[in-house]
Amino acid sequence: MADRPAPRKRPVHHLLVQRTERLSPHMIRVVLGGEGFATIVNNDFTDRYVKLLFGQPGVTYPEPYDAEAIRRDFPREQWPTTRTYTVRRCDPVARELTIDFVYHGAEGYAGPWAANAKPGDPLNLMGPSGAYAPSAEADWHLLVGDESALPAIGSAIEALPAGVPARALLLVHGEAEEQKFDTAADLEITWLHGDSGADLVAAVRALEFLPGTVQAFVHGEAGFVADLRGYLGKERGIARELLSISGYWRLGKNEDGWQAEKRETRLREEAEAAARA
Ligand SMILES: Cc1cc2nc3c(=O)[nH]c(=O)nc-3n(C[C@H](O)[C@H](O)[C@H](O)COP(=O)(O)OP(=O)(O)OC[C@H]3O[C@@H](n4cnc5c(N)ncnc54)[C@H](O)[C@@H]3O)c2cc1C
Repeated sequence: MADRPAPRKRPVHHLLVQRTERLSPHMIRVVLGGEGFATIVNNDFTDRYVKLLFGQPGVTYPEPYDAEAIRRDFPREQWPTTRTYTVRRCDPVARELTIDFVYHGAEGYAGPWAANAKPGDPLNLMGPSGAYAPSAEADWHLLVGDESALPAIGSAIEALPAGVPARALLLVHGEAEEQKFDTAADLEITWLHGDSGADLVAAVRALEFLPGTVQAFVHGEAGFVADLRGYLGKERGIARELLSISGYWRLGKNEDGWQAEKRETRLREEAEAAARA
C-alpha cells in the first residue's frame, strides 16, 4: 500500500477578546484581535467559518499550542472541545475578527463562553475555511436560515451585487432578534418569529419563485434543512452547485453528537453507493 501523505497541519491562531456587544436578547457579538491576528489568512467566502477550541477545565496545554500534539499526548477526555462559527467580519486594517454567537441557554461551551467573555480573554481557533459566496451568474438569490445562520446570511446579503433580486426567509425568536443589513440588492426579507422549523419550510414552499436561475443558501437546524433539501433539490430541481445547504446544529444534540451523526450518515451512504456499483 502506498504511504499516505501526512495530514496537513492546520495552524492555530491565538486571539484575544477585544470587546463584546449584546446585539439582541439571543445574539452576542465578540470581536477578537491581538498579535495572533497576524497569522490569519482571510478568504472571500461569505460563509467563511472557524473552528473554536475550548480547553477542558483544569487542563493546561503546553506552549506553543499544538493541536496535533495535544491529540497525540493527552487522553481523549482532555482534548479541547471544537465548535464551528461563521466569521461575521474580518477586518485586516483594524486587525479584528468578529463572531456573532447565538445564546441558546446555559448548556454547551460556545454560547456560555460568549455570554461571559470579557476583554483580554484568550480564544484559540483554526481557519477560516468556506465554500459559498453569492455568484454574479445567478439571476436571483434565495437565503434561508435561523439565528445560527444570520451571520453567514448577513455577510451574503452585504456582498450581493447591486440591483440583483434576493429573497431571504429568516426564523428568529422574536422581533427583537431582527437585524438590519446594508445592501444595494433588490432584497425582500420575510422574518418569521418563534422556533418552528416547520413554519420556515412552509414559508419557503409558499414563496413564489422568480424567473431565471436561483442560487440558494440554506442553513440552520438540521430538521428543517433536511426538509428543504428535498424540496429545493428534488422538487424545485436546483442544481447541486447552486445549492449550499447543511445543518448547522441539531436539536437535542451537541456539536460533537451532530458531527458524529453526519459522519455515520456519509459512511452509510458511501457503502450503499459502493454496493450498488
Ligand atoms: C459552518 C457552521 C457555521 C456556524 N456559524 C454559527 C454562527 O455564526 N453563530 C452561531 O450561533 N452558530 C453557528 N453555528 C452553529 C453552532 O456551531 C452550534 O449551534 C453549536 O452547537 C453551538 O455550540 P455550543 O457549545 O454553544 O452548544 P452545544 O454544546 O453544541 O449544544 C448544547 C445544546 O444546545 C443546543 N443548541 C446548539 N445550538 C443551538 C441553537 N443555535 N439554538 C438552540 N439550541 C442550540 C444543542 O442541540 C444541544 O442540545 C455554525 C455551525 C456551522 C457548522
